[in-house]
Amino acid sequence: MMSIADNLNRVRERVEKAVSLAQRPAGDCRLLAVSKTRSADEIRSLAELGQLDFGENYLQEALDKMSELADLPLQWHFIGPIQSNKTRSIAESFSWVHSVDRLKIARRLSEQRPDNLPPLNVCLQINIDDEDSKSGCSVEEAAQLAEEICQLERVVLRGLMAIPDPEQSDEAIASSFQRLADLLEQLKATLPCGQSLDTLSMGMSGDLDSAIAAGSTCVRVGTAIFGERPAKTES
Ligand SMILES: *Cc1c(COP(=O)(O)O)cnc(C)c1O
Repeated sequence: MMSIADNLNRVRERVEKAVSLAQRPAGDCRLLAVSKTRSADEIRSLAELGQLDFGENYLQEALDKMSELADLPLQWHFIGPIQSNKTRSIAESFSWVHSVDRLKIARRLSEQRPDNLPPLNVCLQINIDDEDSKSGCSVEEAAQLAEEICQLERVVLRGLMAIPDPEQSDEAIASSFQRLADLLEQLKATLPCGQSLDTLSMGMSGDLDSAIAAGSTCVRVGTAIFGERPAKTES
């Protein structure tokens, strides 16, 4: 069996190979280790190897691990669906939120971000394949919503996030990534806060190579680092 340290090294190599194939500078794509359902000890062992960015989907689980790992200089990214009664804790505890998909949530995060912390980095999640079941705003709503988020005081709009429909062919997934990249370029060119938009959060264990080819600057990788997740239902 491979250890998670070996897995991390293999994923790092995979990321750098894809970055280099895309003729982008080394280090151009951030690796976010998605640690939902994983223990604080597993996170600690990755932190010892220099992996400091972690993504979590479930608030209470994340808060428990944060307090156990408070001695480490970790950056926590919230990547799961957000209920409005959870925004205060998210605004207080995370550096990034990738899954903002409506104005109400963005407003609350901005109002609730503590003054002693830097503004919260947020990405707008786009339902890039128009799936009924999926979080994210539509491509059509994106420009308006992004413009409104730009005006909020205590959040910084950094870019876009999407999870393509995994049932599609590889070609269709690549085209979804490309559409998200095109949308980011369009927003960069047209929004007053366009210069802060430097992030395309796309690509997971199965499709990170294709996401990086399309311009991903942040891949969110769980299974390829930690192995298959045990089943988990949110309480
Ligand atoms: C779980 C999750 C991931 C990681 O998926 P893997 O296929 O395990 O790499 C990435 N992004 C989001 C939003 C997730 O919920």
